[in-house]
Amino acid sequence: MNGFTTRAVHGVQLKKDVHGTLRTPVYDSVAFEHESARSLQLTFEGKKPAHAYSRISNPTVEDFEQRMKLLSGGIAALAVSSGMAAITNTLLALAEAGSNIITTKYLFGNTLSLFERTMKPWGLEARYVSMTDPADVESTIDNNTRAVFMESITNPQLEVADCNLISEITAKHGVPLIMDNTMMTPYLFNTAKSGVNIEVLSSTKYISGGATSVGGVIIDNGNFDWSRAPRMRDQAKNAGQMAFISSLRQEIYRNVGACMSPHNAYLQSLGLETMSMRIDKSCDNSIKLAKYLQQHNKVRSVHYPGLSSSPYFVTADKQFCNKFGGLLTFNLESREACFSLIDSLKLIRRATNINDNKTLILHPASTIFVEYTEEDRKAMGVTPEMLRLSVGIEDHEDLIEDLERGLETL
Ligand SMILES: *Cc1c(COP(=O)(O)O)cnc(C)c1O
Repeated sequence: MNGFTTRAVHGVQLKKDVHGTLRTPVYDSVAFEHESARSLQLTFEGKKPAHAYSRISNPTVEDFEQRMKLLSGGIAALAVSSGMAAITNTLLALAEAGSNIITTKYLFGNTLSLFERTMKPWGLEARYVSMTDPADVESTIDNNTRAVFMESITNPQLEVADCNLISEITAKHGVPLIMDNTMMTPYLFNTAKSGVNIEVLSSTKYISGGATSVGGVIIDNGNFDWSRAPRMRDQAKNAGQMAFISSLRQEIYRNVGACMSPHNAYLQSLGLETMSMRIDKSCDNSIKLAKYLQQHNKVRSVHYPGLSSSPYFVTADKQFCNKFGGLLTFNLESREACFSLIDSLKLIRRATNINDNKTLILHPASTIFVEYTEEDRKAMGVTPEMLRLSVGIEDHEDLIEDLERGLETL
């Protein structure tokens, strides 16, 4: 098989375009005409791979999905309107009222809010454990557990749990393991090799290619027996290994309606082509900045899984492809010092979002986590003295100079 970047650039040739375009165009059309009533019937039955209506499938979106499938090594990929839609669709497919999922408080803020505020009133219980304590995960699983959900590197705690240990447990109990792999993408973390069953991604981040568009992807790694998942039993009889994806395509995803727009799919396919190079640069810059900040006397502590001082270094080094992501956090002496540093920066941008081409800085406690109490934030590992840096692809000397100037004003 060709290397990652070759696959990312060339993608999958679906149908030859009438004009021979080298790039799949934006098919901004809602409906697609068929030559016969029979053809429409077969398409609606899911027996003919053709497009009928863009909320269900679209050629530009399919091009993006096929590229993601090719790059991830999964058996199928489904693109949705956002990373949150990827998580929501996946849970709606697997769980029901009265069931539970096992996860951790170390989660992307909106994901935690989805579990706690949005899903709870519908009867789904989220049970919080420590993913670095596999025994805790195992003892919390019961007959009503529909999934274990974790992130490859948690944000902003930057915890890296040993995924092989968790997947041994989930496989033993017949519970699917869902991994939000936004921070690493299939380029740095092949989740299937670590026993993950479903990978979800916010393609808004590294994939989009410079924060151009919001999107999400759901990948089925093809390593779960869907007849063991209560909501998938009927579907598994008809669709076998494809039960999860076809249940999404023919029911959940179709009914929820969080489809990716063709224009966003076009931007995201374009982004994928250069993703590996952007990630390489962002990771190289990150380790340089982490080391720079670590030796600075105004900086209390630096957290980055690529630093040998990180408690997660050994696991991250084993699990990922020698790179440790583009996010780091560091602590100053106070919240006021954090605000003052943010305000004094000239190059680094004051913005939320991660894995943009531009380096971004944020004070998590007063922004993404502002809806929580101080106590809740503490439980989530978000302290008032913490700053989050999402490291872009600029020349690292310029980033260091900007930080140096800012830190000097404190
Ligand atoms: C951004 C993000 C999400 C949500 O993605 P959207 O595309 O913004 O909906 C989910 N998980 C992680 C880890 C993220 O960073």
